[in-house]
Amino acid sequence: MYKRILLKLSGEQLQGSHESGFDTERAVWIAGQLKQALATGVQIVIMVGGGNYARGAQLADDKIQRITGDYVGMLATLMNALTLADVFNSEGVDARALSNIEANQLVDQFTHRRAVSHLDKHRVVIVAGGTGRPFLTTDTAAVNLALELQCDVVVKTTKVDGVYTADPALDTTATKYEHLSYDEVIANPSITVMDKAAIGLALEQHIPIVICDLLTEGNIARAARGDTVGTLIGEKMA
Ligand code: UDP
Repeated sequence: MYKRILLKLSGEQLQGSHESGFDTERAVWIAGQLKQALATGVQIVIMVGGGNYARGAQLADDKIQRITGDYVGMLATLMNALTLADVFNSEGVDARALSNIEANQLVDQFTHRRAVSHLDKHRVVIVAGGTGRPFLTTDTAAVNLALELQCDVVVKTTKVDGVYTADPALDTTATKYEHLSYDEVIANPSITVMDKAAIGLALEQHIPIVICDLLTEGNIARAARGDTVGTLIGEKMA
């Protein structure tokens, strides 16, 4: 049973059944999953991605600088945080968005004190803006934030129920890893579920990461209870 977890939600998951942008129905579903998890008494911090609107590396070209692309990517995460907070609140999940980029007319600035104060009031805290710096992703921002807010675990929800030896959609012989060490993930170029900078930070600071399927009913609550779910990335097994 964990006290506080960091949930990383990618833009792709918030896009749900749409081609891009934000799917309210998906957000409603996530709110339902959070209710179950919150009932265990756990506090929840969410780092939102922005890939459903923009990704810096994809925007960058010979006219648009990479840092400009990354700024746009970070702005995309703000859009997700704003709408996600609205859906959660209207579904009865008390939530507040905070941003690592100054946008005071739209959303409160992230501060450690503010985040902890919301969490202690059992509000879900949604953090936008990644780290606020280019050349990073919201995966790295998620691990960083989990450390800053002393979360017990990072839960990254995906489309499959963990990390596989190959893409299970393409290879029927693919098998799931129950456990992977940080070193194994860093050394294996075919494991792309989370970027290596994020895994490296988790390795150095000894924070476990759970990779699990978002759309399996009850998964977030199970992960919050510390039950086995998906793939655990952590220290080498003895
Ligand atoms: N980004 C950034 N710094 C950060 C986090 C994100 O520059 O600390 C930018 C980057 O361009 C990234 C985009 O924001 O592509 C959206 O984030 P991400 O790709 O991690 O979203 P996800 O894939 O999780 O939807």
